[in-house]
Amino acid sequence: MSGFQGDRRKQALLLIAERTALRAGVTLTQIRRHVYSVLLDADAPLGAYDIVKTLDGVGAVAPVTAYRALNCLQELGLIHKIRSTAKYVALTSGPSDLPVAFVVCRECGTTEQIPLDLDPTRLLASAEAHGYGNLDPTIEITGFCQNHQT
Ligand SMILES: [Zn+2]
Repeated sequence: MSGFQGDRRKQALLLIAERTALRAGVTLTQIRRHVYSVLLDADAPLGAYDIVKTLDGVGAVAPVTAYRALNCLQELGLIHKIRSTAKYVALTSGPSDLPVAFVVCRECGTTEQIPLDLDPTRLLASAEAHGYGNLDPTIEITGFCQNHQT
């Protein structure tokens, strides 16, 4: 997120994050806020170790600090972990516990959130009907980005 519009959008998302945390009875600590802010600013998904490097001057520069913050933000529905690359992205649509979909480049890991144009409740119900529970309602579609199509 860059430019004036990006700044305003980021401030709005940070405010929404504060409220989301408050409603969940969770404190958006300085470290959690920082990690969320870093992910909002990132042009690409970040790994936990990319996050650790940004903790200098904010909190303990240790993987456990990053993982704790990332887990909390994930539980609040503010960020998502992309399974195929084990990296994290902030949701561009704001916090959500609804299913979201991503496309991931198999070559470079470029990741974009895409609109989910289907009824996710039917999909989840179908998964449950097959005996699966504790569902992670994230859909990942892998392929090749524009730079990596041959
Ligand atoms: Zn690519």
